Amino acid sequence: MIEPFDWRPIKLVAFDVDGTLYAQRSLRLRMGARLLLHSLTRFDRRTLAVLKSYRQHRETLGKAETEAFEIALVAEVARRHRLSENSVKRIVAEWIEERPLGQLAACRYAGVERLFERVRTSGRAIGILSDYPAAAKLEALALRADHIVSAGEVGMLKPHPRGLERLMALAGAKPHQTVLIGDRAERDGEAARRSGAHCLLRSEQRLSGWRTFARFDDPVFDALDATPVMAGA
Ligand SMILES: [Mg+2]
Repeated sequence: MIEPFDWRPIKLVAFDVDGTLYAQRSLRLRMGARLLLHSLTRFDRRTLAVLKSYRQHRETLGKAETEAFEIALVAEVARRHRLSENSVKRIVAEWIEERPLGQLAACRYAGVERLFERVRTSGRAIGILSDYPAAAKLEALALRADHIVSAGEVGMLKPHPRGLERLMALAGAKPHQTVLIGDRAERDGEAARRSGAHCLLRSEQRLSGWRTFARFDDPVFDALDATPVMAGA
């Protein structure tokens, strides 16, 4: 039996974005349909192939904890597909950053907005820690945060703790005063563990060694309203 989560020392509630605030699978399906239509009507198979390489290589660089990953990522995808780096950047900007924005609101998880409100009302700061640029996504999700840090700004993907450390510094919160809410144990969970912060993972299944919740109205959040931030915690 796991002890109830102690919200008293928590000053910063940090959220991952993709797969945590919205259903990533739903977004992928929606974007996949649009991409397929684009490929068929424009006779363009390359865009699909470039995006696939980009995602795969990004995972590899995250795992390898490569410094200045974005430069390495674009260069490698450009090399593989014999494209200029600018062409790769253009495809990524269009299909990974811009076009999905219009689909995000429809994929937002139930209860996210309410949870943000509860965190804010309880006197805690809301942080965003994402491996992708997050400000426009947050706006598309109609959510507001106090601090946003994306991997590109710190040059390192999760599970490297640098992004979370930057976020904690911005919020003036120590690791024991911080909880990271994410969806991937090997990325969000490890980043939190390595920074010394707490972690809650959104998951339908229980994950051994991790505290999980399936919905944003889970009882783990109940104590949030009742426990304002502990003075001097
Ligand atoms: Mg995620």
